[in-house]
Amino acid sequence: MDLDPTPAQEAFRAEARAWLAAHVPAAPLPSLETAAGFAAHREWEAQLAADRWSVVSWPEEYGGRGADIFQWLAFEEEYFAAGGPGRVSQNGINLLAPTLFDHATPEQRARILPDMASGATIWAQAWSEPEAGSDLASLRSTAERTHGGWLLSGQKTWSSRAAFADRAFGIFRSDPAAAKPHQGLTYLMFDLRAPGVTVRPIGRLDGKPAFAELFLDDVFVPDEDVVGEAGAGWRIAMSTTGNERGLMLRSPGRFLASAARLVELWRAAGDPADTALRDRVADAVIGARAYQLFTAANASRFAAGETIGAESSLNKVFWSRYDIALHECALDLLGPYGELSDDADEAPAQGSWAENYVFSLAGPIYAGTNEIQRDIIAERLLGLPKGRR
Ligand SMILES: Cc1cc2nc3c(=O)[nH]c(=O)nc-3n(C[C@H](O)[C@H](O)[C@H](O)COP(=O)(O)OP(=O)(O)OC[C@H]3O[C@@H](n4cnc5c(N)ncnc54)[C@H](O)[C@@H]3O)c2cc1C
Repeated sequence: MDLDPTPAQEAFRAEARAWLAAHVPAAPLPSLETAAGFAAHREWEAQLAADRWSVVSWPEEYGGRGADIFQWLAFEEEYFAAGGPGRVSQNGINLLAPTLFDHATPEQRARILPDMASGATIWAQAWSEPEAGSDLASLRSTAERTHGGWLLSGQKTWSSRAAFADRAFGIFRSDPAAAKPHQGLTYLMFDLRAPGVTVRPIGRLDGKPAFAELFLDDVFVPDEDVVGEAGAGWRIAMSTTGNERGLMLRSPGRFLASAARLVELWRAAGDPADTALRDRVADAVIGARAYQLFTAANASRFAAGETIGAESSLNKVFWSRYDIALHECALDLLGPYGELSDDADEAPAQGSWAENYVFSLAGPIYAGTNEIQRDIIAERLLGLPKGRR
């Protein structure tokens, strides 16, 4: 693994740094989990897209820069170091887009990707159902054949940002007679404002309303919005989960920046006599660098044409536990003020430590729970026998 950047990678990083220094808003945007914050973040996506920084790794024809994986990692490091706003387009860019690059028709790519890149269409992921989270293959929502398309019915839940998003992608049971649960499923995209869709926000722990459940009652979806072959939805969906658990959802840049902010916090507010807390700050820095190196190793394998597969579960367990430890350390450092949220004037760092701490608690649950990831690690990476289910 060669970690020395090439001149092209250095030039790319420098260009990104200069652009971000000139454009990242001086004051943080309001939380993207609120209506006003969602709109502000959508505008930010448009600004990124105008100079082709919203989807750097995509081909140029869809608004990207054709960046390689090392350039993408460098961009992410610069983005978080510059304090760039959270990415409201994340579900589309990180989850749906890789699926479309692998499975969609040229017409679908041309129709969908540019609006995703600019934030004109914000996507929600509609996979989970009340009885189908970890055991996703037991999903019951249906897609029934009709003239020129499909009728969707059922309930989806835990859909991030769906309260304010425009469209959603999900898997539906299109052949109820299929022999096995993961057969007879179809991957479809639908409009969250189509007749028959009811979006009901779910209050989060911090009271912000963007999370939602979706009720679908004979929602018409034209054939042009089926991704890949009808009936092949499971295989198509599984090609997305590696991206979600692995690199794309949590790049090391985020943790390097958070660890750097934690060190600043320690310098400003830490008690030098509290060596136990100081050691936790040091552990946060070590963790961020370890994750950076592990990711670089994976990126090298990607660049050599390999896939990351079950190793993405190692990443998922690592970053989700790391994120909680880092935020707990920050809150212990801040004392009672750390608990103030972004609507309190006195909240340190505009309440971002508190909001991000609450969100970190969900890390071991979303993108596949850590228990499920550990099963994958035990069985597929370590070759251990299957546990009792
Ligand atoms: C903040 C947040 C955002 C989310 N965003 C989205 C989204 O945008 N779109 C979407 O579709 N979904 C989303 N989800 C849903 C998420 O993917 C599910 O919550 C997750 O897959 C777990 O499913 P579940 O909640 O049904 O729990 P269950 O699957 O019912 O699990 C309950 C517990 O049992 C354990 N368990 C279950 N099966 C096994 C097993 N075989 N072996 C060992 N332990 C097991 C689990 O690990 C867990 O601890 C989100 C969830 C959260 C918390």
